[in-house]
Amino acid sequence: DGVRCRCHGRFMTTSPLTAAGHWIGGETVAGSAGTLPVVNPATGDLVAETAAGTAADVDRAVAAARAAFPSWSATTPAHRAAVLRRVGAGLAARTEEIASTITAEMGAPVGLSRTAQVAFPAAVIDSFVGLADTFPWTEEIGNSLLVREPIGVVAAITPWNFPLQQIVSKLAPALLAGNTMVFKPSEVAPLTARILAEVTVEAGLPAGVFNVVYGTGAVVGEAISAHPDIDMISFTGSTRAGRRIAAVAAETVKRVALELGGKGANIILDDADLPQAVSKGVAMAFTNGGQVCGAWPRMLVPAARQDEVVALAVEAAGQYTVGDPTDEATRIGPMAHEAHREKVAGYIERGVADGARLVFGGPGRPAGLEKGAYVQPTIFADVDPRSAIAQEEIFGPVLTIIPYADEDEAVAIANGTAYGLTGGVFGEPEHALAVARRLRAGQVDVNGGQWNALAPFGGYKQSGNGREFGRFGLAEFLEIKSIQR
Ligand code: NAD
Repeated sequence: DGVRCRCHGRFMTTSPLTAAGHWIGGETVAGSAGTLPVVNPATGDLVAETAAGTAADVDRAVAAARAAFPSWSATTPAHRAAVLRRVGAGLAARTEEIASTITAEMGAPVGLSRTAQVAFPAAVIDSFVGLADTFPWTEEIGNSLLVREPIGVVAAITPWNFPLQQIVSKLAPALLAGNTMVFKPSEVAPLTARILAEVTVEAGLPAGVFNVVYGTGAVVGEAISAHPDIDMISFTGSTRAGRRIAAVAAETVKRVALELGGKGANIILDDADLPQAVSKGVAMAFTNGGQVCGAWPRMLVPAARQDEVVALAVEAAGQYTVGDPTDEATRIGPMAHEAHREKVAGYIERGVADGARLVFGGPGRPAGLEKGAYVQPTIFADVDPRSAIAQEEIFGPVLTIIPYADEDEAVAIANGTAYGLTGGVFGEPEHALAVARRLRAGQVDVNGGQWNALAPFGGYKQSGNGREFGRFGLAEFLEIKSIQR
């Protein structure tokens, strides 16, 4: 009996949404605390329900993962890579279902859901599959043999902004390394976890290697952080939650990998191609409604060029149609949930109150969108780099244009927040590269450099620790033993 949801006047079949139970040891298990609602932020309608977990459900999932560990960790990397390859193919085969599910639960435009949530995870899986043969699983240093071994039971806790991409970026390296997993998806966007579990079964992953427990951070997340039989937590989410997880996990000395918030700066140098720099900068501020950890919500411009930049930015922003995320023409949907809309709207009001110059959008709803979690994409100019909108992570479509006097000041402003996740530099290539090296951030793009699935990604400062992707990301999920001979 399929749950059907009424979205924008037409019925959508949502088969995976019927499955409310956790996925533990190859079985569907009811939540000990009943169910949690999943709400469509574009309409306010109930999309589906998932299990609501408790510490007892976490215990059960950890026991299943522990039981599956000896045999899974004894398989070869080549075997595990073959299973992962089938997982990637299985996800690709369900592209439309995954895209419409994610769009219904968190409001990303459906075109973006297809690329960022399916094509991107599939590319991540391929990149890890490709590493199985070349990664130094063992190596020698003098008289020592170094052996890389799985850590054991790894828990993954993820946010709602790219729900499938976030878990796949953890699942692929964790399982390739030979670990087993307990996964707690975001309660805001939990529905593709079930599709992923089904795909792993079809790919031949043994029961218990991958388990899903639904629930809130306050209950299930806390139980995971405190669990004595979980060896590692790989977390992506806010700096606030990451801090708490690290503190609780310290009691059992777990390994904790944290991918946290960001406040990326895009430095536009005097010798930059301005139209290119501004158009890419606006995209990096507005894509997924700005709900991207690696976004560039700050655009740093030579003071003498600010007027030119504002004109280009306003023109580019006008192309970001806001509206129904199931419409192929939409480029910005609603914020992922109503409380988040209120937070973003509050920052837009704060920017006005703090005296920044509003040049696009502003407080209030976009025209014609009287319900749903919508805000207006907004651009402020002449922003004080010490003001709240330039310092705090808004996680919405709000671009702050900050003028600078000289390059040293630009670098100081870029590095002048608690975060250090991403950044961009536009200018003559050698010049831009020299400035990129001065940024205290884990990933910097020069002149809009292309995404590379093998390049490490992660934060300096309060943007986290550890790295995801490629061989550095794989190494996060491995212990290293040295045997002296
Ligand atoms: P969030 O921190 O509120 O929640 C993330 C996950 O943590 C959810 O599954 C939540 O249930 C869980 N959680 C919350 N409190 C917890 C606790 N006390 N113990 C254990 N788990 C807990 O973040 P969100 O609102 O879902 O996502 C937005 C945030 O995620 C932003 O700050 C963004 O920058 C960050 N993010 C970072 C990256 C990255 O790679 N660095 C990527 C995407 C998002």
